[in-house]
Amino acid sequence: MIPMSPRQQDNPELVIIGGGVGGLVTASVAGQLGVRTTLIERGPKLGGDCLHTGCVPSKTLIHSAKVASLMRRAGEFGLPAADPRVDLGAVMDRVRSVIDSIQAHDDPERFRGYGVEVIFGQARFTAPRDLMVEGRRITGRRFVIATGSRPAIPAIPGLDEAGCLTSDSLWTQRSLPRRLAVLGGGPIGLELGQALARLGSRVTILEAAARLLPGEDPDTGEALKAILDREGLEIRLGAQVTGVSCLDAVKRLDYVQDACSRTLEVDAILVATGRRPNVEDLGLEAAGVDFGARGIRVDRRLRSSAKHIYACGDCCDTPYPFTHAAEYEAGIVITNAVFRLPRKADYRVLPRVIYCDPELARVGLNEREAREQGLEVEVLRFPFSQVDRALAEGETAGEAKLLVRKGRLVGAALLGPRAGELIHELALAMQAKIPVSRIAATIHAYPTLAQIHRRAVNTAYSPRLFGPATRRLVRWIQRLIP
Ligand SMILES: Cc1cc2nc3c(=O)[nH]c(=O)nc-3n(C[C@H](O)[C@H](O)[C@H](O)COP(=O)(O)OP(=O)(O)OC[C@H]3O[C@@H](n4cnc5c(N)ncnc54)[C@H](O)[C@@H]3O)c2cc1C
Repeated sequence: MIPMSPRQQDNPELVIIGGGVGGLVTASVAGQLGVRTTLIERGPKLGGDCLHTGCVPSKTLIHSAKVASLMRRAGEFGLPAADPRVDLGAVMDRVRSVIDSIQAHDDPERFRGYGVEVIFGQARFTAPRDLMVEGRRITGRRFVIATGSRPAIPAIPGLDEAGCLTSDSLWTQRSLPRRLAVLGGGPIGLELGQALARLGSRVTILEAAARLLPGEDPDTGEALKAILDREGLEIRLGAQVTGVSCLDAVKRLDYVQDACSRTLEVDAILVATGRRPNVEDLGLEAAGVDFGARGIRVDRRLRSSAKHIYACGDCCDTPYPFTHAAEYEAGIVITNAVFRLPRKADYRVLPRVIYCDPELARVGLNEREAREQGLEVEVLRFPFSQVDRALAEGETAGEAKLLVRKGRLVGAALLGPRAGELIHELALAMQAKIPVSRIAATIHAYPTLAQIHRRAVNTAYSPRLFGPATRRLVRWIQRLIP
């Protein structure tokens, strides 16, 4: 049953459309600041993509897949190995229970407790300061659009008829497809593809680009691909799917790779070819809000072309479609729309993680971007295979790659165990403009994976420390002292 708001907000000062992370953060802060706020969500529950179909279910699935992989690898740790017979239904039940636990934080009553009116229904602008929800007209002073995005389904002949899974529909599956084609080798395709392969599907990833993760440095993308290849994931690059047909339960994909026509037969197709912003059916034209294929056009203060209407999260043409980006942007919106301070979004130190195993975490620039900006950078590398904790845990693949300019970090990529946790020390160093020498000077507990940061930085300092100049200085001191 759809909950009803206990009271109606008259003349709201802030009307927020979308109850995902962008909308919820904006609503909770505005409500607690005493701003008369109305939040509108079209779905039956608050929480948005991240909670229901994105981060939470995917990371929960990935963890079950990691356990399955460790069970198979148990022999490496001196334990009896086991090849688990996976019941996807049971795995999905755990996914559901984790969503349900987190859902408690997004209970509409919590927001009502902050003084926010929560309405369930589809919002649509009828004029720059008016919108309609469930037959009710709401006139507000300022608005925030945080309507998120949805999977983009490519126009491939036969795909509609054959049917496909997406990150929206995957979570209701109860049985594993024996053979699965994943269309798209981006973060979502790789994360879900690897997880389902570990759970028992034979997974083939078809990626149209000539290399994996074109936004990363080639060495980083290739290193991750090599790890996934070794694990048995079939990744076909430069593969352009031209058609899909269905014979009984078998789905046949026709694709072109290296100018050769090829086919692949599978039991299910998972489409992970990008996301499309939710900007339709919102009456944006009536509100005077400009938008394009990448979403609502916003300036750096996250104002749309109608200056009293802000947008944040996946629905706008900002660079990063992540939960923490939407949360950060909600803070920018609050500063501008509520405090009326002209704060601008700055994405230079935004960490981002691909939750494959091992994880790939990035912050700041990569080597190519630094060179394109004409920055002379020193590249410091250190492999996880020389980090004692990584050896102890049998997780030695990958490396740290730090880009340093004038003694300070301008970017870093970590490919390795728990890279998504480790990246934050580097993000903090960048954010606080701390020289990398301070990382080297900081005592890191032994044996932790975080030691990789010191070790990487020391690759620059050790040659200087143990070089001829220091050796001469030490000889001179030794002669002087009694
Ligand atoms: C499989 C997958 C894995 C992901 N993993 C990660 C991850 O690990 N880390 C990470 O940072 N990000 C991840 N993301 C991305 C993350 O989920 C999104 O960036 C985040 O949810 C965006 O938040 P949002 O508030 O902009 O939109 P959403 O969370 O999508 O919320 C938008 C809300 O608006 C509502 N809405 C839409 N139109 C209307 C309307 N007209 N009226 C009323 N309500 C409306 C929708 O119902 C929805 O609830 C993942 C995404 C996917 C798909």
